[in-house]
Amino acid sequence: MPVYGSAVVNAAVALPPVSVELAFAGHGSGETYDIDSVAGSETKRLHLDCQSPLSHHHHHHLHLHPPIASGWSRQDAVQLLQALRRPPQRALAPAPAAQLLPHHTRQQDHHPQRALRAKEASPFVSNKYPVIDHEYDALVVGAGGSGLRAAFGLAEAGFNTACISKLFPTRSHTVAAQGGINAALGNMHEDDWRWHMYDTVKGSDWLGDQDAIHYMTREAPASVYELENYGCPFSRTDDGKIYQRAFGGQSQQFGKGGQAYRCCAAADRTGHALLHTLYGQSLRHNTNYFIEFFAIDLIMEDGECKGVVAYNQEDGTLHRFRAHHTVLATGGYGRAYFSCTSAHTCTGDGMAMVARAGLPNQDLEFVQFHPTGIYGAGCLITEGSRGEGGYLLNSEGERFMERYAPTAKDLASRDVVSRSMTMEIRDGRGVGPDKDHIYLQLSHLPPEVLHERLPGISETASIFAGVDVRKQPIPVLPTVHYNMGGIPTKYTGEVLTTDDKGQDQVVPGLYACGEAACVSVHGANRLGANSLLDLVVFGRAVSHTIRDKASPGKAHPEISADAGADSIATIDHVRTADGPKSTNEIRSAMQKVMQTDVSVFRTQESLDQGVKKMNDVDQMWNQIGLKDRSMIWNTDLVESLELRNLLTCAVQTAEAAANRKESRGAHAREDFPDRDDENWMKHTLTWQKKPQEQTQIGYRAVEMNTLDEAECKAVPPFARKY
Ligand SMILES: Cc1cc2nc3c(=O)[nH]c(=O)nc-3n(C[C@H](O)[C@H](O)[C@H](O)COP(=O)(O)OP(=O)(O)OC[C@H]3O[C@@H](n4cnc5c(N)ncnc54)[C@H](O)[C@@H]3O)c2cc1C
Repeated sequence: MPVYGSAVVNAAVALPPVSVELAFAGHGSGETYDIDSVAGSETKRLHLDCQSPLSHHHHHHLHLHPPIASGWSRQDAVQLLQALRRPPQRALAPAPAAQLLPHHTRQQDHHPQRALRAKEASPFVSNKYPVIDHEYDALVVGAGGSGLRAAFGLAEAGFNTACISKLFPTRSHTVAAQGGINAALGNMHEDDWRWHMYDTVKGSDWLGDQDAIHYMTREAPASVYELENYGCPFSRTDDGKIYQRAFGGQSQQFGKGGQAYRCCAAADRTGHALLHTLYGQSLRHNTNYFIEFFAIDLIMEDGECKGVVAYNQEDGTLHRFRAHHTVLATGGYGRAYFSCTSAHTCTGDGMAMVARAGLPNQDLEFVQFHPTGIYGAGCLITEGSRGEGGYLLNSEGERFMERYAPTAKDLASRDVVSRSMTMEIRDGRGVGPDKDHIYLQLSHLPPEVLHERLPGISETASIFAGVDVRKQPIPVLPTVHYNMGGIPTKYTGEVLTTDDKGQDQVVPGLYACGEAACVSVHGANRLGANSLLDLVVFGRAVSHTIRDKASPGKAHPEISADAGADSIATIDHVRTADGPKSTNEIRSAMQKVMQTDVSVFRTQESLDQGVKKMNDVDQMWNQIGLKDRSMIWNTDLVESLELRNLLTCAVQTAEAAANRKESRGAHAREDFPDRDDENWMKHTLTWQKKPQEQTQIGYRAVEMNTLDEAECKAVPPFARKY
């Protein structure tokens, strides 16, 4: 019987006897196994007697007592580790993951693109943990829509590319996207990408950079056709074109021609279709995947990014990935809030890694609340449900959006709809026994529309709200959905910081795309279906930027032997922490503060309180205690490192929000109800260079010019009405 599992060599590897921790796939108790480990020409046999019941889950830990027969050397244990590598995941990827090679040797491979360059790291970096070094031309952290698009773009251009992801690629949050992806294809009516550009600038409340918005909307049709050619299963019109639905904030004729139908959809599972398409494409190219590797920190030297340090959850080894180009595509941080539509894995790891590298984040105060999260559960009901004709109702049975947005009504932009709902509830017109939510009415829609265009949310409503959408309205509430802010980049994907004089400066070797980045195309408020677009357009742009300015196969200069040692010390510190507070306790405290004080409506009082409480919660980090001390699939450790990242994002969000004294897009202040272009038409930058330190604040100018005035005119600011 084959035994799949993985093993990690304990700290005291040098001293026989060696103790080994094993993780197995689906075996019961009372079974015995023989595991052969081939060391050189000699085969050593380990006889294993399973005493304790093992769950049918490969993350189960088994400690061997007594340790393996004495006489085993470190080399034997390492061989065992390799023999036990669980193959199924690797089989899907085109190349195997890390291989441990003896000191100072490199694997020679006749496929230059597939060459794996891994070796044991210098002992200076850690004498306690096994550390493996890798060298790549380019490295992408994240395998959501943006990461996959960047990774296979680079592989296609001949760069030896590694893509590391804490999740299996198709489990990334992109898979949950429902509504669709905007592009002015003109399949339902005449359309023009400049109208899309106008809508996006207006949607951003003039905080978006117009060069980047110009680029994204212009490239949108080609990006969607590219997806179509890759095989993305879009819904179709009767004449076979890509189906496009109405979505919030989209207009024709620069706002004068009524609602636009611009959102390309695959029923209400567009993200699923898109992510699987991109993953399929990426397997056509020689991208080297490192799956279920958790990136901890950037490796920075002299202001330049040299790669990342990562933890392989499967076998507990630590890795230094060196690359000339590192792309962060790590997604958003919705989990800083109590109620959000994002996956548990959306923890702002990229933003926090950048912060710890001493670099700024941008516009974190702009957090999007989606109008229709299911009351209680928080799961998303797509805006596409309103795009197909659904509408919101208060306790008086009134379509109240007609009062707040006479033209666009239920398809006004998300910040406007979320605020209107909150106001209805405050004025006592909420529904339910506590009058604390709103109804989304879909039962008037033809059953075939629900069946063909909205099958996913019909099911979600049934499971999470117990509602049959053909007969009953869905109880909904504004729920945290998207982070407009993130790592500041140019539209080329290059990461920006500021020099001593406050001028923009590119950070060599570092790029970002997707929700982790702030390009900024979404400004103060993202329009629905513009994020999936952002993923493919800027994932591709990053790969083009690198392709155009560098060539593959460049030698790697030495990095200092102890580069990354601090990150390993952090892992060690967290893994062995024995303070009185659990990860969950600190995380819940953070989520409560953010949900209460840094919410849809904000005042100086609530925000100042939010800042104070968030800084207090941040300090609780020093009292954290973990229970799991192992290195294999230590979810306790990973969740704690994710919490550390969330805290960094949350503190900066609260600080930036308290600092911005105006209302713009998703940042709505009751004490400053108007937009103040004179003082506040600028991006916020925040630094928290060391975790738990005081946040610093700075600014960057908004780019008000397009890439080319002759091709596309800039949109001057005016009061935003829908
Ligand atoms: C429920 C829902 C519905 C949505 N619907 C739409 C829609 O219809 N249209 C639209 O335009 N937008 C939609 N959005 C927004 C959009 O889906 C997201 O903004 C987008 O998918 C984010 O993609 P991404 O590539 O940036 O990151 P993600 O898809 O979030 O992927 C992040 C990747 O980074 C990896 N990663 C993160 N941290 C680490 C680490 N420390 N180490 C290693 N790997 C790491 C993860 O493994 C993952 O692969 C929706 C969002 C949600 C939550």
